[in-house]
Amino acid sequence: MRATLMYCAGDVRIENVADETIVNPTDALIRVTRACICGSDLWPYKELAPVDRGRRMGHEAIGVVEAVGKDVRRVKRGDVVVMPFAYSDGTCEFCHEGLQTSCVHGGFFGVGDVGGAQAEALRVPLADGTLYPLPVREDDALMPSLLTLSDVMGTGHHAAIAARVRRGRTAAVIGDGAVGLCGVIAAKRLGAERIIVLGRHPDRIALARDFGATDVASERGDAAVARVRELTGGHGAHSVLECVGSEQAMATAMAIARPGGAVGRVGVPHYEATPASRAAFYSNVTVSGGPAPVRAYVGELLPDILEGRIQPGRVFDRVVGLDGVPDGYRAMNERKALKVMVKP
Ligand SMILES: [Zn+2]
Repeated sequence: MRATLMYCAGDVRIENVADETIVNPTDALIRVTRACICGSDLWPYKELAPVDRGRRMGHEAIGVVEAVGKDVRRVKRGDVVVMPFAYSDGTCEFCHEGLQTSCVHGGFFGVGDVGGAQAEALRVPLADGTLYPLPVREDDALMPSLLTLSDVMGTGHHAAIAARVRRGRTAAVIGDGAVGLCGVIAAKRLGAERIIVLGRHPDRIALARDFGATDVASERGDAAVARVRELTGGHGAHSVLECVGSEQAMATAMAIARPGGAVGRVGVPHYEATPASRAAFYSNVTVSGGPAPVRAYVGELLPDILEGRIQPGRVFDRVVGLDGVPDGYRAMNERKALKVMVKP
């Protein structure tokens, strides 16, 4: 079968690899019908030091179950399933608490001996806890939006939850990538009255407005902070969704949070110490967030997609086959594509 491998920064190849097979009795094997390239895939695309054996890429997928191990009960051959970016058993204490990304038996796709989703097929560990069967056919028109349940829509929702978005209040969203845009959808869905998006790319800002953003701050750094304060009567936003992960983005997030407000961070942090920690202390700002337990959110978000209330699939602006994946990375890295869907 064919799969995507990354050998070092900027070096993404499509190669023939050994077919995926059932290894453990709790595994399922899926034929990948949709995958995508994630903003977080761009970090290794910029930084990965050379590796001998290429790293398997991709952690977002919808697929059709081809086979299951003998202990799998909840999914069966032929099911159309969405795959969260982390696998989880669904039975441990953290899974019961809705924090599947801390599952004691869980892990992430594309790490260790677990493959990546930018491929023709994938072995899914702990299939009963991980996969969520969808009530649609594999060619359903809602596929782009359903695919976002594997990561970006659930991650944007997690940012909104961590930032304590409440009805009638103000939310600020840092980042106009796919997660930030889904964060706008999530903030609107949870009732935020004003939604300020911090970003500059005209097409993405237009989409953010379609999704419910009421104001835009396209300045950078201190000027962006001043702009948000001006928009919020000088106090800042109740909720700040930090959807980038850079130190600058986090510093901005802390600076625009209103006293007593909350910062929900979902961008993978590329800093060790949290910026502006002292100022946040004196403002009683809560800092929360982490890898989104998207598996916990599928059941809540799915009806809104099936019934057309939200359309997060609009973040996809390019579709490629596996052969087009290396170009897809390049386009996203150069910000020529917002999010690339892969149809293996
Ligand atoms: Zn668990």
